[in-house]
Amino acid sequence: MAQVILAPINLDSDELLKEIIPTLEKISPFKFKIEKFNIDISEAYSIERGQYHSTKILKIINDNLKSDSSKVLGIVKNDLFIPVLTYVFGEAQLNGRCSLISLFRLHEEFYSGKSNYELLKQRTVKEILHELGHNFGLIHCKDWECVMHSSSSIEEVDIKGISYCESCFINIKMNLKVSNV
Ligand SMILES: [Zn+2]
Ligand SMILES: [Zn+2]
Repeated sequence: MAQVILAPINLDSDELLKEIIPTLEKISPFKFKIEKFNIDISEAYSIERGQYHSTKILKIINDNLKSDSSKVLGIVKNDLFIPVLTYVFGEAQLNGRCSLISLFRLHEEFYSGKSNYELLKQRTVKEILHELGHNFGLIHCKDWECVMHSSSSIEEVDIKGISYCESCFINIKMNLKVSNV
């Protein structure tokens, strides 16, 4: 069973993460635990854009990894970008140990002004499983029912399925066997 550490970075509360772990464990082959990550991400902030450069945060996470084999998924509340895009929901190292998601654009308030906690939880589960999929070697999937479908807008996050399709699931299992974690 692959261990995944959910690492809240400057989050006000990890209640949301606690609440989604049972769902994450039901629909994925991973085991999750929450561990606070005390890292300083201020150098990833771009004053010009008013956002954080996600690749820089990934590097900071990577530089602070413990010497075990667990994957670490950082969760920030700040808006993320990479230079070629207006924003990103998250980023991951393909076949690496680190990934990152932002809750900033998963809040329904951001779009409609009305909060929707169930929707926030569902979107967070999708983004976590999507970025972890990249850590386990998956590339984007053409199946809209699959959580590995690419999503560059919140509509696409909501349309795609919440779990891995059969073929992506098999690929993760094979990756787990090879890396023996
Ligand atoms: Zn992706
Ligand atoms: Zn798939």
